[in-house]
Amino acid sequence: MQRADLDFANLPFAFQQTDRNIRYRFRDGTWDRGELTADQTINLHMAATCLHYGQEIFEGLKVFERPDGRIQTFRLEENAKRFQRSARKLLMEPVPLEVFKEAVHRVVQANRGFVPPHGSGASLYVRPFLLGSGAEVGVKPSREYLFVVFVTPVGPYYKAGFEPVKLIVEEAIDRAAPGGVGDVKCGGNYAAGMRATMGAKGKGYSEVLYLDCREKKYLDESGSSNFYAIIDGRYVTPASPSILPSITNMSVRQLAEDAGLPVEARPVGVAELGSFAEAGCLGTAAVITPVGSITHGEREYVYSKDGKAGPVTTQLYNKLIAIQWGEADDPYGWTEVIPES
Ligand SMILES: *Cc1c(COP(=O)(O)O)cnc(C)c1O
Repeated sequence: MQRADLDFANLPFAFQQTDRNIRYRFRDGTWDRGELTADQTINLHMAATCLHYGQEIFEGLKVFERPDGRIQTFRLEENAKRFQRSARKLLMEPVPLEVFKEAVHRVVQANRGFVPPHGSGASLYVRPFLLGSGAEVGVKPSREYLFVVFVTPVGPYYKAGFEPVKLIVEEAIDRAAPGGVGDVKCGGNYAAGMRATMGAKGKGYSEVLYLDCREKKYLDESGSSNFYAIIDGRYVTPASPSILPSITNMSVRQLAEDAGLPVEARPVGVAELGSFAEAGCLGTAAVITPVGSITHGEREYVYSKDGKAGPVTTQLYNKLIAIQWGEADDPYGWTEVIPES
């Protein structure tokens, strides 16, 4: 294997072209066998439903090079299942679990040289997405779908890496509503939140924290990651119908429980901001990102004065990445080695 000539230790979280992506088409009621291509563009009918009526969903997962040089996935099956849930909610054709898995294996194998070396801190980000590709002008689901997976080597999502970030509570803009599609991974949720995220960045914050849109009293999640707080030695994460069920959060909850921390999923009030000992964001891209402060209106609640993550957050982060990188045993069966092509 020839490793790509990249500065893997200093990669940003940004698109970096690789050799191949893979595409499967659903037509006349069946999926084809998929095709690897070097083409970076997609030829799409101008009336495709993804362009007009938002039939677009995606996933995000990472693969890691282990100390022994083999490559492993992390909870691939969970991403595959969530992709199906997202598809069903938008009346799109769900990608069979085996097709999803095969697609990820094939595209990673075809880009072996772009998998960042173990110890570089970078990983290979995998981006599956599904488009309604059939032409319709009336509002109805497409009869044809395009399933694409590309990969790109990435460094940390937040520039500072494992260093506390500043969040601001978003009081005006809602990302999603109960009964809407906030609980599935569709591009439209990101379009809805872009003004909020850009507004926060313009004011020097890393991201927003959304509130429940009904009462504006409870914390939902951040723009692209779930949220937790450590309150009285408990791991507390918002329960809400409008947040995306994060696989990272699911994993960290398990790790917290097994470390003896009581875990609570419940509505978390803005009134509780002053009682957090630690807080963090959770996602494939964010991994666990410690939250150093949360601004709510005129008030700033500070959770890290020394610019460092708290002890519980640090412990959970170390456990999680040790499993992801294949440095610790994986008693949960979350990781799986990708066979050599
Ligand atoms: C993808 C995503 C997350 C994180 O989910 P993971 O499965 O942990 O990557 C959280 N919130 C939103 C809105 C997301 O789109």
